[in-house]
Amino acid sequence: MIENISASIVAPVGPRRISAGWETATKVNGPQIAFAGDLLRGQRFRIGLPEHVSNFGRLPSGLTPQVVFETLRAANLTGRGGAGFPFVRKLETVARAQSRKGAVVVANASESEPLSKKDTLLMRNNPHLVLDGIAIATAALGAKSAYIYIKDKEAQVAVAAAIRERRDRGVEEVKVSVVEAPSGYVSGQETSVVRRIERGPALPRFSTERVAVSGVKGAPTLLANVETFAHVALIMRFGVDWYRRIGSGSDPGTRLVTVVGAVERPGVYEVAPGLQLSSLLREAGGSQVRAVLLGGYFGGWLSAPSGTELDFALDDVSLSERRLSMGAGVIGVLNRDTCPVVEAAGIVEYLAGQSAGQCGPCVNGLPEISTSFARIALSSNVDRGLTELRNVIPLVEHRGGCQHPDGVIGLVRSTVGTFADEIRLHKQGRCSALGSHRSVLLPASAPLGAMAAAVGR
Ligand code: SF4
Repeated sequence: MIENISASIVAPVGPRRISAGWETATKVNGPQIAFAGDLLRGQRFRIGLPEHVSNFGRLPSGLTPQVVFETLRAANLTGRGGAGFPFVRKLETVARAQSRKGAVVVANASESEPLSKKDTLLMRNNPHLVLDGIAIATAALGAKSAYIYIKDKEAQVAVAAAIRERRDRGVEEVKVSVVEAPSGYVSGQETSVVRRIERGPALPRFSTERVAVSGVKGAPTLLANVETFAHVALIMRFGVDWYRRIGSGSDPGTRLVTVVGAVERPGVYEVAPGLQLSSLLREAGGSQVRAVLLGGYFGGWLSAPSGTELDFALDDVSLSERRLSMGAGVIGVLNRDTCPVVEAAGIVEYLAGQSAGQCGPCVNGLPEISTSFARIALSSNVDRGLTELRNVIPLVEHRGGCQHPDGVIGLVRSTVGTFADEIRLHKQGRCSALGSHRSVLLPASAPLGAMAAAVGR
């Protein structure tokens, strides 16, 4: 594996970094953006090892643990799975916690956020880039085992074929096992991933210890999103300066985002953090945008009554000024046909049904929150709904065994705070939505609950 990088390989420029070579990747009009994958078509365009090496070159030689740690520290790569945690801090924690058990490396492609497709497309298209990142991390930690936790069937086939291809071509690296991730919103949480790899249920585990200290079978475990590992592979090839050429000091590099909802070209885009949200939505074919849910179901709403609210850069500073984050890289778009409060109530109902059924406040509290929120959304009794929410939320918040209930409460708060005007209209039995509501952000597989039935999923 450790061979000199070919002199003919040139680092990708512009936003096509991870998606360089993907069959569907095309240039779009903005210089900070690449369309990387269409959600509506099946993608079966796996890049084999020769093409992968031809696109990116081989991994360079001399990647000692010290070089890897120092390079990733200087790169300031943040996790692409949702929390945005600095990758090197996880790496350092695992290295410090190493004991006789040795370390374990886990790449998470469970993509339990229903609207996200970026990890699926990455694994279907270029599993070798992720495997390179895993190889670098395992070598730096001296880890003896590694796993890819993955839900999508086609992606499982692609990654299994890539592992076989590497073995057949004599690539020396730690054995990587593929573990199937079941569906379910909580199946991608860190402790759920660890339990599943240990052959248990993919449900959260109650533990005060971080998986970086005690994860798979008690071993310190480096668990990160697959896109993060892909960035590791590129940074170690092309260096810190190249990586940081795009983005800002605190938010460098490109990221994959999934744009869904009321847009003509839903799909996965590779974007630079300086890109304006309005430019991205224009490229995706969004018009008459009324609101955006940023970061996924546990993200936050942005209201766009005039459209100018979308004119800001998708970097960490601009987002935090608006109390938003990219989260799992999902951008859900609503146009003026859709009431965001009704849409949010459908999502809350779906999430209430995703409780792992292990903690009373979550099992009993989330359905109550959903029912109260539905009163507001359906204008059946808005005041009662608001009062009930005020009463029940303190009984649930911070009282679950995992972040699930707090994530749901965050979405409820964001909806009530962002769309206060809309809720006032609902109080009068009116709604500003122009069309008859059809949900655009609920997964097709969501059970048909009361809200989903009412909103015409
Ligand atoms: S808080 Fe909810 S989702 Fe989390 S472990 Fe408890 S029951 Fe499961």
